[in-house]
Amino acid sequence: MNSSIGVDLEKAANLLRAGELVAIPTETVYGLAANALQDEAVIKIYQVKNRPQFNPLILHFANYQQLQACGLDLPPSAQKLAARFSPGPLTYVIPASYSIPGIVTAGTPAVAVRFPNHPITLELLQKLEFPLAAPSANPSGFVSPTSASHVAAQLGESIPYILDGGECSVGVESTIISFLEEQPRLLRYGGITLEAIEAVIGPVSLPETGYVDNPVAPGMLARHYATRHPLQTGRLQELLPAALEQYAPSEIVSISFTELLNDIPATNQFILSPTGHLPEAARRLFAALRLADEMNISLILAAEFPEEGLGRAINDRLRRASSSASTSVNATD
Ligand code: AMP
Ligand code: MG
Repeated sequence: MNSSIGVDLEKAANLLRAGELVAIPTETVYGLAANALQDEAVIKIYQVKNRPQFNPLILHFANYQQLQACGLDLPPSAQKLAARFSPGPLTYVIPASYSIPGIVTAGTPAVAVRFPNHPITLELLQKLEFPLAAPSANPSGFVSPTSASHVAAQLGESIPYILDGGECSVGVESTIISFLEEQPRLLRYGGITLEAIEAVIGPVSLPETGYVDNPVAPGMLARHYATRHPLQTGRLQELLPAALEQYAPSEIVSISFTELLNDIPATNQFILSPTGHLPEAARRLFAALRLADEMNISLILAAEFPEEGLGRAINDRLRRASSSASTSVNATD
């Protein structure tokens, strides 16, 4: 199979109705979508991604009515967040209903739901009679795609259609917040900042620190977003001396926030936002990781970003991509 890339919503809808997979654009990253209510369609997502079946999927809806039509509801604090941030890069983990297949929830009594903020995908969802289950459109363990061509490069052989919605405007995955406990708990840092959430609903519990291989939130698994070349993250000026002892300057690539380094060639440097704008850095992060990976080099050095706002999500993804995180876990997404 060779996927075609286009903007034909009718074609995408018909493929999905027929139980096929379609890659869809969202504001976070491209998703690999299937009819969430059809087991045989959802199973294809796990097969194509080589994703472990214990890793549950996020359901995508156009609006609140569609969510309720599946027997689901948001608790009051989630509704407050939805009023402010939906559609947007925020995923709510809530009690599942009978109509949600176990293959979507990985057999857990909870389901993750979100309203993606992309005009094409919202229009597609409005046309459909069912929600879409969609993880990121990359093979498990690799960097998530932020353009249609990224999807084609990795999954072009395995899916019939890629709906092209341009480059993702947020560039990192959604923030995941669980409403299963008394106090809402953040499970994954992402496109909506912790500060913005707490401004609406007050304090939330934070993700457990360190890397866990408990699939409560498989997005928390250690090895994720892996690059082919080893990646180290930290202060660039501190990482550089050791790197230069081992490798020639031309064998090292840096990914920084604003900084231009003197010791390695300018063509080996990705400065994610020269003006120090975290949303811009987030938007460009995954494309930079991909480009660095395609270069003929030996080591990627990635800066530590400010641990605030979107910097938390960027640091989280870079830590998971770093080689030091690769030890504990063998199954990831
Ligand atoms: P992605 O593969 O980027 O779409 O991420 C999907 C993530 O959503 C998973 O890795 C989980 O962290 C989270 N998730 C989905 N469903 C659930 C659920 N029922 N309970 C907890 N987390 C979930
Ligand atoms: Mg993913």
